[in-house]
Amino acid sequence: MIEIDTKTFIQAKFSEYYEKNSVNIRPPSSIEKREFGFLLLKERIMLRHKAFKTAQELRASLKALVPAHVYYSSAHYEQPEEEMEEKGWLGADLVFDIDADHISTPCSKTHDTWICHNCKATGRGTPPKRCPKCNKQNLEEKTWPCEICLESAKEETIKLMDLLSNDLGFSTTDMSLSFSGHRGYHLHVENKDILTLNSASRKEIVDYIVGIGLDPQLHGLARTGGPNLDDFGWRGRIARGTYEYLLSATPEQLAKIGLGRAAVQSLSKHRERILESWKFKGPWTMIKGVSFESWSKIAAQALKKHAAKIDTVVTTDVHRLIRLADTLHGKTGLKKIETTAATIEEFDPLKSAVAFPHGTATINVAEAPKFRIGTEFHGPYRNEKVELPLAAALFLMCKGSARISEEHQHV
Ligand SMILES: [Zn+2]
Ligand SMILES: [Zn+2]
Repeated sequence: MIEIDTKTFIQAKFSEYYEKNSVNIRPPSSIEKREFGFLLLKERIMLRHKAFKTAQELRASLKALVPAHVYYSSAHYEQPEEEMEEKGWLGADLVFDIDADHISTPCSKTHDTWICHNCKATGRGTPPKRCPKCNKQNLEEKTWPCEICLESAKEETIKLMDLLSNDLGFSTTDMSLSFSGHRGYHLHVENKDILTLNSASRKEIVDYIVGIGLDPQLHGLARTGGPNLDDFGWRGRIARGTYEYLLSATPEQLAKIGLGRAAVQSLSKHRERILESWKFKGPWTMIKGVSFESWSKIAAQALKKHAAKIDTVVTTDVHRLIRLADTLHGKTGLKKIETTAATIEEFDPLKSAVAFPHGTATINVAEAPKFRIGTEFHGPYRNEKVELPLAAALFLMCKGSARISEEHQHV
């Protein structure tokens, strides 16, 4: 009889997972050139600079160490096990990270919380810069993978794929796409042409995708007209974004972006004519009372809507460690799982990423918002003991919101 605590319980389940599923874990391409990093579950230490020659070696290590997080380098190295300066950088895959943390969603107010490590004050939504109670900057945010947040991350991923393939000419066959196991998606591009791009070149790609330094006037917006819906690249995106924006914008929203009363009235009054105008050359010059400056403000909104919200730091970092597919995410107990460009629309991350489909566990939940794992919804909970499907129970324990109940204290 061994007394166990929550961490030991998580460790035992993660161990079962790796015993059973390691055989299906596919290593990255050129495994022998990659650096691996493992964050250990109990010790909370990061083992870096690990290298493996074969998939078997990697799998044996996962079974023996049972890490909370498994990472590999986007970079290829001559000597991946050496210290950073000695590794001999050979190139890196082009990687993109889309995380709901970088997208403002209305639901974050209902499910995200923060705690001040100094005075233990708590609050909801995005944390303020300083603790409102003690004014210290020691705040920790707890975010949740909710359906709305994950759906917005998916939309950004689809926009990103579109920019990469239609504008920049990357082939979808060179792309791999996956749900991160927490709040976002990863997109990798692997091909010879991008392998040796330096950080500055990758920054150029990032700027194009997020529309940094993009001036609509250099994309056809002029006093004499503007871009058309079927134009190539950002030109077309600005036209389509303008079309979509005006389709749904309320007079209040138009005023909020800085349009004067005459322009707001005119745009509302001529809504039908504007929609019709796209069959010809667009509404750019035909609506009285809407100045070139007003159109520029609308085009800026169109740009914002069509840019993909990626984590720009990840893409420009040519030494980045990335989570390995089919390994567990220590903050959720879900697995990072691949999807494809063709199936992402129907992909349900909260269903596909379930790593523990059988069993139940009884836990004491401190606090949790309503959440879904698999097809079932659970919660909200506050200071209660519940028996949940194992995947949902592990999810709350990994999030630090629940402890294993005494019923499970003896195994
Ligand atoms: Zn405080
Ligand atoms: Zn949400």
